[in-house]
Amino acid sequence: MQKLAILGSTGSIGRNTLDVVARHPDRYQVFALAAHRRIDLLEAQIRTFNPAVAVVVDPVAAETLSLRLAGSNLTTEIRSGADAIISIAQDAAVDTVMAAIVGAAGLPSALAAAEAGKRVLLANKEALVMAGPVFMNAVRQSGALLLPIDSEHNAIFQSLPADYQQNPGRHGVAHIILTASGGPFRGYDRKRLLKVTPEEAVSHPNWAMGRKISVDSATLMNKGLEVIEAHYLFGIDPERIRVVVHPQSTIHSLVQYIDGSVLAELGAPDMRTPIAHALGWPDRIEAGVPMLDLISSGSFDFLPPDLEAFPCLRLAFEALRSAGRAPAILNAANEIAVAAFLERQIGFVDIPRVIEETLTHIPNGPVDSLADVLAADAAARVYAQSRLAV
Ligand code: MG
Repeated sequence: MQKLAILGSTGSIGRNTLDVVARHPDRYQVFALAAHRRIDLLEAQIRTFNPAVAVVVDPVAAETLSLRLAGSNLTTEIRSGADAIISIAQDAAVDTVMAAIVGAAGLPSALAAAEAGKRVLLANKEALVMAGPVFMNAVRQSGALLLPIDSEHNAIFQSLPADYQQNPGRHGVAHIILTASGGPFRGYDRKRLLKVTPEEAVSHPNWAMGRKISVDSATLMNKGLEVIEAHYLFGIDPERIRVVVHPQSTIHSLVQYIDGSVLAELGAPDMRTPIAHALGWPDRIEAGVPMLDLISSGSFDFLPPDLEAFPCLRLAFEALRSAGRAPAILNAANEIAVAAFLERQIGFVDIPRVIEETLTHIPNGPVDSLADVLAADAAARVYAQSRLAV
């Protein structure tokens, strides 16, 4: 029986994880759930899965939840605060940690799980984008098993040899090819992008996702963050990482080998597939996802990404080549800019402007510790905030 801690249980990945887990009560037991403050949904999850511990980051919301559960015969202990999430990520009773807290807020707990040598199901991109060298070092030192949940990286993981991580130089990998849906504004030029709204940006054509990642998908920053993620996860140079727009989102990513072979993972665009893959690995378990029917899925299209209209992908490649703190600066500026766009403080095309200005202004430096990363993150946020109204 695998004991799970699901960090970010009320988000999109957390809900999909519980959907898969509920199909396999013989294999998985939910030991802990953690959420920011959506206690209505967390309460329902607690009543269904009866975890030993539930964490609500917001202390007032935690208090409300405790009162609601008082008098029920549930034994779940309610804790609050960000430190409580770290403690469940490292709890000796936990085998597997689903790190699905969105954004920079998810970094400390994902890192804590890696340091504790857990089986880490990594859905949070920022652990690798902001702190790639620190995070991968923690994985190596603790012997943690790292399984990517991001659909592209999960597809690459599946398309690489099983012993790739032990011997990455000896497998003849020529390129990693990340597929991108192109988002809701695929084919738009800059003039048309001047008028797009947050509502349009969050309506993704293929994937149902949270608001922040949906905007990232619309700007192509999501793909840029994934390029950085792939670099650290698989130890592949930026020059060997390619991005191709594939509007159908059926091919989730590919690996090209030096002999000309290309291996890929295909499936319906449903996050339960990578979640079930990582939960079950090396076994395969049922995910509740309909089988892909090739005949009815129609044709597959491939296009180059438009870096003129969508500069965020170019900025991400540049930050990765600069390395050090630049990816953390890029990420922080993007979080500020996307939040401002969702609040209608800036336009869609201001997002790359704010990021580029922040990357130019904040000095780069080495990343030797989490403190280095958090310092760069904080400085970038302050500067990006100052560049919103210009
Ligand atoms: Mg992805």
